[in-house]
Amino acid sequence: MNTQLQSIADHYGTPCYVYSADAIAARAQALRETFGGRFRLRYAAKANPNPAILNLIEEQIDTIDISSSGELRIALSAGWPAARLSFTGPGKRAAELEAALTAGVGEIVVESLYEARTLDAMAATHGIRQAILLRLSPARLPRGFGVNMAGKPSQFGVDEEDMPAALSELAKLRHLDLQGLHIYSGTQCLDVGALAENWRIFIEIFRRAAALMQEAPRQLVFGAGLGIPYYENQQPLDLRALAEDITPDLDALRAEPPFTATRLALELGRYLVGEAGVYVTRVLHVKHSRGTHIAICDGGMNHHMAACGHLGSVLHRNYRLFRIGHGSDEAQTYDLVGPLCTTLDTLGHRVTLPTLAPGDLIGVPASGAYGLSSSPIHFISHDLPRELLVDGSQVRDVSFLSHHAAPRAAS
Ligand SMILES: *Cc1c(COP(=O)(O)O)cnc(C)c1O
Repeated sequence: MNTQLQSIADHYGTPCYVYSADAIAARAQALRETFGGRFRLRYAAKANPNPAILNLIEEQIDTIDISSSGELRIALSAGWPAARLSFTGPGKRAAELEAALTAGVGEIVVESLYEARTLDAMAATHGIRQAILLRLSPARLPRGFGVNMAGKPSQFGVDEEDMPAALSELAKLRHLDLQGLHIYSGTQCLDVGALAENWRIFIEIFRRAAALMQEAPRQLVFGAGLGIPYYENQQPLDLRALAEDITPDLDALRAEPPFTATRLALELGRYLVGEAGVYVTRVLHVKHSRGTHIAICDGGMNHHMAACGHLGSVLHRNYRLFRIGHGSDEAQTYDLVGPLCTTLDTLGHRVTLPTLAPGDLIGVPASGAYGLSSSPIHFISHDLPRELLVDGSQVRDVSFLSHHAAPRAAS
């Protein structure tokens, strides 16, 4: 791994992202096997929309969840049939709904009654009955999630409190086919007990909703919330323990009349691809300033905002950074910064690493999700990093320009 990263960086240049196809496949397989095939898998494209990754997971994942017409174009161009796409997002524009509808997107996850009415009218015009899922927003999320969307005002989905009224309104919209329910209310959780408790909250809401629905739900989507370790002291999630904890509840649910033919699905992003990616940057210069060693690297926040602590974190905590390749075994403490003209561009604060010199490579693990596409790539106009996919013994340059201009709307 270490020597491979070194040779990739030397051959393709830095900074770069390196993704492992095997690691992604192993995660998909672990998810299927550990839950005994109880869950279908849905991948949220926003975690990493690189078309090569979307293409790669086509055989391992059932559905891609897109959140814009840009992601729709990317998924289609990566070889996904529209029927296996689902479209989620709190602010879908009319033109985006229209694009999804006419492309034949399998499911549209409706997040409000306003959206449902807009879509119903559109479907009527096209003479289509569109399959939808209703997204619900729970009143409660257990402690232990890095991101929490429950129990407070939220742009995502219909509040659980408003569910009965929403379901009776939805039933009147004849051009929408309510196929099931969707909840995603928190993520980045490493705690088995909290994850299982959260899924029990979902199950209880699903039961109440199903009792109010005219037809049995054909699908229930569990926005999984599975976390990955980013920081030094974090332990990986024990997937097996989670499966043991939740399986009796899933099986009990599947034994109840409205749910005997219902498909269950896990929707996730980071757990599938996050740990399959490394961001690699090269030390340009080591500066001594007022008692601190500062290693200045050729990439930072412009390519990897999350690693600099600016994607949803309140405090900066260092990712588990490592030096790639061999060299001195002496340790030294560094501030690790990128090339941008702003103090925000800090990859690591007071990180202890083997002694660094210009030319040394730094690896940032857990960078396969919310990396390049979640970063301010245009800020200060540095070149984009390449994206490399290691697939078996092959390395492919899968660099992808994140900027996809929409086709001009016809006037
Ligand atoms: C972002 C998102 C996901 C994926 O979240 P992860 O934390 O990457 O697993 C799943 N579903 C929805 C609706 C999302 O917005």
